Amino acid sequence: MVIVLNDQATEADIQLIIEKLHTVGAEAHVSRGQFKTVIGVIGDREKVMEIPFEAYPGVEKVVPIMKPYKLVSRDFKQELSVIKVGDVEIGPRTFTVIAGPCSVESEEQILSAAKAVRASGARVFRGGAYKPRTSPYSFQGLGEEGLALLRKARDEAGLLVISEVLDVRDIETVVEYVDILQVGTRNMQNFLLLKELGKIDKPVLLKRGMSSTIEEWLMAAEYIAKEGNNQIILCERGIRTFESATRNTLDLSAIPIVHSLSHLPVIVDPSHATGRRDLVSPLCRGAMAVGADGVMVEVHPNPSQALCDGPQSLTLEEFDEMMRSLKVLASSFERILP
Ligand code: PEP
Ligand code: MN
Repeated sequence: MVIVLNDQATEADIQLIIEKLHTVGAEAHVSRGQFKTVIGVIGDREKVMEIPFEAYPGVEKVVPIMKPYKLVSRDFKQELSVIKVGDVEIGPRTFTVIAGPCSVESEEQILSAAKAVRASGARVFRGGAYKPRTSPYSFQGLGEEGLALLRKARDEAGLLVISEVLDVRDIETVVEYVDILQVGTRNMQNFLLLKELGKIDKPVLLKRGMSSTIEEWLMAAEYIAKEGNNQIILCERGIRTFESATRNTLDLSAIPIVHSLSHLPVIVDPSHATGRRDLVSPLCRGAMAVGADGVMVEVHPNPSQALCDGPQSLTLEEFDEMMRSLKVLASSFERILP
C-alpha cells in the first residue's frame, strides 16, 4: 500500500510513520514528488493494515496497491520519473539518443565512433565489453580492456557511456568505468544480478526479456527498486514471435502501456529488435511518435567488418541522417533533442 501525505505533513510526521512501520517489520520507501510525498510500504499486509494510518498527522489517504509490483508503479508515484546522468536527463521532456557499436573492438574503432556520434548529437555512447553471445565460440568481448577504451572515448568525445554487465562478479569493475549499467535481455530475470544492481548508486538500463511480458519486466525492475536504486530506465528491444522477417518483433505498444503502468522512463532499441539497419531510422521515428523517452541504436564506422551485429549497425553517415530526421520530428512531439 501507499500512504499519501497532505501538504501540511512535516518531517516528524514522516518519521513517526516510518518508525511505526518498522515495529511491524515493514519497509518504508519515501518518494518526495513535486506535488505530493508518498510512502510506499512493503511488508506483511495484514499487520500493516491494523495500524490506523488514516488517523496519523499529515496523512491524506491510504491506498492499497493491487499490482504485484509497487515501487515502480504509477500508483506509487504518479509523476513520471526523470533519470539524471551527468548533464543528461532521461524522461518525459527529452528524447535521449544512445548510440555506438555493439561491441568495443579496438581503440581506433571506438574513438572514431564516439567522436562521430557526438558530432551528430548523441549524448550517451554504447559499447559492449562483456558480450552475451548465443554461441560460446563467438567473440565474447574485450572485458576490462574494453571498458578502459570506453572510458577513454567518454573523456575524449565528451559523452556519457553505457555498457552491459553480465555477471554479479563484474559489477564492481563495470561500475568504475561507466555512467549507466545495462542489463541485457538474457539477464532480465537474473534476480541475483538485479538485487545487486539495486545496491549501487548509478542508473541501470533494464532491457525487456525477449520472451517476457510487460508485467514480468516491471517485476524485474521492482527487484532493483526494492534494494534502494530508483534510477532505472526500461528498454524495449523486441520480443520473440512467429515473424521471421525481422530478428525479433518490436513491440511499440509496450511504450504507452509501460507509461500508463509505471513512472519509469522507457526507451526503444530498434537495432536488436529488427536485426536490419534499414528499419532502424523509421522505427526510431515510430518510437518518438508513441512516446518513448529515447532510443538506443547500434552504429559502427565500418559495419561490414564488425565483430558483432554488423547487419543491424548504421554507418556513421546513416546515423547522422537519422539524427537530422529525429530533430525535425522532436519539435512536433515537444521533446528536447539536445
Ligand atoms: C546489446 O545491447 O548489446 C545486447 C546484447 O542487446 P540485447 O540484450 O537486447 O540482446
Ligand atoms: Mn548488438
